[in-house]
Amino acid sequence: MAVRTADVWQRRAACRGPESALFFPPTFPEARPDRDAREARAKAICASCPVRPECLEFALTIREPHGIWGGLNELERRELLEHAFPPPSPPNRPNPPSM
Ligand code: SF4
Repeated sequence: MAVRTADVWQRRAACRGPESALFFPPTFPEARPDRDAREARAKAICASCPVRPECLEFALTIREPHGIWGGLNELERRELLEHAFPPPSPPNRPNPPSM
């Protein structure tokens, strides 16, 4: 049986267990201070996680749109991707012929 790489690193994740709920927003509206506190607690767990690089790479690769992965929330991952892969510049258009 093949062992998938994701399965291996996820078994070593520091976020396994009862605190895993910190890593995703609740199903009800969350006030900004509550979200900031929840994310700070999740990121503190990520900071000591032995598989943080693998986790972040996985989330970036699949463009995970939700939650804390690899110590970054969805906005931070989006900014990282936009910085690493900026959209192409529009092609230069020739000036229209003058009449
Ligand atoms: S880096 Fe954070 S989200 Fe990723 S596996 Fe580790 S604790 Fe979980």
